[in-house]
Amino acid sequence: MSLLLLVPAAGSGSRLGRPEPKALVPLRGRPLIQWTLDAMDPVGFEKTVVAAPPEKIGEFRDLLGNRACVVAGGETRPASVRAAFFAVEAEAADVICIHDAARPFVTAREAAAVAAKAQESGAAIAATPIVDTVKRAEGGRILGTLDRSGLFAAGTPQAFLGEVLQRALASGREATDEAALCEILGLPVVVVPVSRFGFKVTTPEDLTLAEALLASRA
Ligand code: C5P
Repeated sequence: MSLLLLVPAAGSGSRLGRPEPKALVPLRGRPLIQWTLDAMDPVGFEKTVVAAPPEKIGEFRDLLGNRACVVAGGETRPASVRAAFFAVEAEAADVICIHDAARPFVTAREAAAVAAKAQESGAAIAATPIVDTVKRAEGGRILGTLDRSGLFAAGTPQAFLGEVLQRALASGREATDEAALCEILGLPVVVVPVSRFGFKVTTPEDLTLAEALLASRA
């Protein structure tokens, strides 16, 4: 059994209001993806594959050296995950963790816990319990309030046995994360509650938060 890491990092920086790909946006002077890979280091992954924007592959390779194998990502996150999965050449019994480049504060301990659950049960994801009251609205008007008990925001890592991820990706179904593909196929997915520090750096406010968090830890 090998422990493998796939990092979708081919997204643009447009929602951050940045010209460079999100994974290359600097945080305290270092690209976001370096922080994310640093955080994952203690897990001891045998192989790491990063999906980068096709036009930036050279830049990613120079940056990451022998830390990771860099492949061309796709137009969407699922397409980038697929590209990384084909490159990693996983065996059925391997455990594959998929982790967004944009979540630099997930800890190695959390990732290892998700991987262990996936090894036991086939699939597991990091998620945070929803703390707010959740409303459904349309055209600015509230239609209703969801019962938030049992609601989680799905994060990453999402981890799978090789045979499970192979089946999920081969299903040809479309979903915004790989866990949803398993759900469609009726495969069990375990939820592992993690800290809210596992947020995805998405908007300029998130960048401010990320900088402040790193400054507080420096
Ligand atoms: O766009 P979003 O913030 O949901 O992206 C989550 C992760 O997926 C990021 O690490 C981003 O780089 C990656 N991604 C990708 N390929 C895309 C779009 C997003 O690898 N086409």
